Amino acid sequence: MRRATSTATVASVASVVSVALVVLACVKDPVTGKRELILIGESEEIAMGQQGSADVEASMGLYQDAELSAYVEELGQSMAQASERPHLPWQFRVVDSDVVNAFALPGGYVYLTRGILAYMNSEAAMAGVLGHEIGHVTARHHVEQMSKQQLAGLGLNMGTVFFPEVRPFGDILGSGVGLLFLKFGRDAERESDRLGVRYSLGQSYDPTEMARFFAVLARLAGPERQVPSWASTHPDPQDREATILALVSEHSAGRENLRTGAERYRRLTEDLIFGANPREGFMRGSRFLHPELEFQLEYPEGWNVQNTQRVVYAAAPDGGASMQLTVSRVAPGTAPEMHARDFFRQNKLEYGTGERLRVGPFSAYRAPFRALTRTGELYGEAGFVADGDHVYEILGLTRRNAIRFYAPVFQDVIESFDRLRDRSALEIEPQRIHWVQASRNVTLREALLEAGADSNGLEDLAVLNNLGLDAGLNQGQWIKVLERGSP
Ligand SMILES: [Zn+2]
Repeated sequence: MRRATSTATVASVASVVSVALVVLACVKDPVTGKRELILIGESEEIAMGQQGSADVEASMGLYQDAELSAYVEELGQSMAQASERPHLPWQFRVVDSDVVNAFALPGGYVYLTRGILAYMNSEAAMAGVLGHEIGHVTARHHVEQMSKQQLAGLGLNMGTVFFPEVRPFGDILGSGVGLLFLKFGRDAERESDRLGVRYSLGQSYDPTEMARFFAVLARLAGPERQVPSWASTHPDPQDREATILALVSEHSAGRENLRTGAERYRRLTEDLIFGANPREGFMRGSRFLHPELEFQLEYPEGWNVQNTQRVVYAAAPDGGASMQLTVSRVAPGTAPEMHARDFFRQNKLEYGTGERLRVGPFSAYRAPFRALTRTGELYGEAGFVADGDHVYEILGLTRRNAIRFYAPVFQDVIESFDRLRDRSALEIEPQRIHWVQASRNVTLREALLEAGADSNGLEDLAVLNNLGLDAGLNQGQWIKVLERGSP
């Protein structure tokens, strides 16, 4: 969870991208040359992307590194300007997420996560992924996909679903930014791969680096590992590595001096944050600790807690109840009951008589409430904790027949809110990418151990380097290791 930046306050409730104007036209696609029934005109396409990009940036946040951001923007622009749709309002940004992902919104809004950048080893790999995403836009894959969805009578819900029904966890999170997880068909992915290779070659980047990157995705998607989003929406990475290599040999025949840009890439990714950033909150046992905002909260034993940029979600093991924690900026000194009243009103919640209380050193307010959702009534307890110019909103929700059981559980969580004073938690730092050179001819395993890597984490570091642990390194060869920044 991040510090609230605007005083606009109160997390938004489901902003829906409505596609108001559906223009029916038959357009010849500039990339595929096919004549297609396109329901969405270019201005609508751009408007949707623009709204989507605002949602993405508000919910995920941008990664704060001016030099890296400028570099991604510059490389993306040079590829997009050489594409079939240079006039679109292209933008290329790095979102502050450790998920391994890249995505494009309609109209030319392209995002890489810091998570995917950590696993790349060269500019050429990045160019390949950017080129692939540019390809989805130039070939109008979103428009095709959306037209189909519209024909089927489905809308696109891109906003933050603030009051989801009580349901299994992944679902709550998955419903967030729907468009990101638009699955394009196999043909569309092939087409984007082909375009990615073409656009990379246009900038003289070696597209075999992109093919190699699919090997990383295949290893990340392997049996014991969590499936990264890009791999799950882009199936068969292994298969595609081979396909791209075939494309490369077909298109780059006779091309010499293709570059990888590894040196510049190393310079720009040195110190890149890797994995979840504990400064934005982390779990220790059943306790959620937030070093930046200096608070802690205790959840019931066994609850599943998920920290996202704007909301900390928690779900009971049986899925019968969920909680969410958000923070709003307020005018300093705002009484928690005043904020509660605004909050309930803005979110159209009915609330009952509440009470003032103190939690830790903070003044707080607690009240029962009722929410009407698509699937019926939900009951809950809400706590509001005032801390200077912030108010924390802690909500518990369940079904009517379970509120008697859960109300005291929710109240305990609200009352567990306290100032964080533990030094080791306050000073915790994220892990960062650090590039080192092999001092002599050694295996990757030896080089990692020499660089001080933890022997338990060697396999993960091998994936990060896209090498086997027994791979031989030449003296001077660069590898990535992870380091905790000094507090
Ligand atoms: Zn794709």
